[in-house]
Amino acid sequence: MKKVPRIVILGPQGGGKGTQADRLARRWHIPHISTGQLLRDEMARGTSLGQRITTTMNRGRLIPVRLTNEVMRRRLSQPDCRLGWICDGYPRNMAQARPFARFGRPNVLIVLHLLDQAAVRRLAGRRVCPQGHVYHLRYDPPKKRRGYCDRDGLRLWQRDDDTPSAIRQRLRIYHRETAPVLRWFRKRVMIISVEARWPIPTVYRHLLSQLKRIPWLSSRLQQK
Ligand code: ADP
Repeated sequence: MKKVPRIVILGPQGGGKGTQADRLARRWHIPHISTGQLLRDEMARGTSLGQRITTTMNRGRLIPVRLTNEVMRRRLSQPDCRLGWICDGYPRNMAQARPFARFGRPNVLIVLHLLDQAAVRRLAGRRVCPQGHVYHLRYDPPKKRRGYCDRDGLRLWQRDDDTPSAIRQRLRIYHRETAPVLRWFRKRVMIISVEARWPIPTVYRHLLSQLKRIPWLSSRLQQK
């Protein structure tokens, strides 16, 4: 069977995971799976589960593992994931990583590197549409109409957890809990490390040039 890209992209909040994952997913026509977005959709529907998630997220805490793994397992079993997927910001801790490695079987891990200071600056200007498309007031504003998503025309908003105190709390959790995940994956899958402090197109170029060095992926990149 042909090997398909099953990619995990990790890095600090604000590192540009969503932005880069979206570009790669569009290039390869594979789904970009953001756990945060899957959970936020649940919140938007206002289910009791959604309400519990809202409270936890707004405090900058992580959602219980049983729940996130279940959400991910369900998503990866959808037919559109058969030709590959790119998963953004998941798994973030060891409790999520072990089961995820079994049911997701990722084969490439992309790690974005960015200093916390820069991450906080980026997140302060982040605006998103209800479908999860990501913009930045200064670095990546919408091109068609100010304040509205280029792709679906929906109004952009600022996430409730993009406040400085929630961001700092999320970055603390990231450093404490995600570092062991990176070490653990290092022994199991191909790792690509990318410096994320450059502008979006530069980071994307560096990312592609590293992916091209993986033989079974490079043919895929050259086709397009
Ligand atoms: P993450 O998914 O890692 O939290 P995002 O992709 O949502 O990060 O990016 C955070 C914010 O920074 C967004 O507003 C995005 O438009 C902006 N951004 C992403 N990458 C860059 C970059 N290389 N330079 C400047 N701004 C960026």
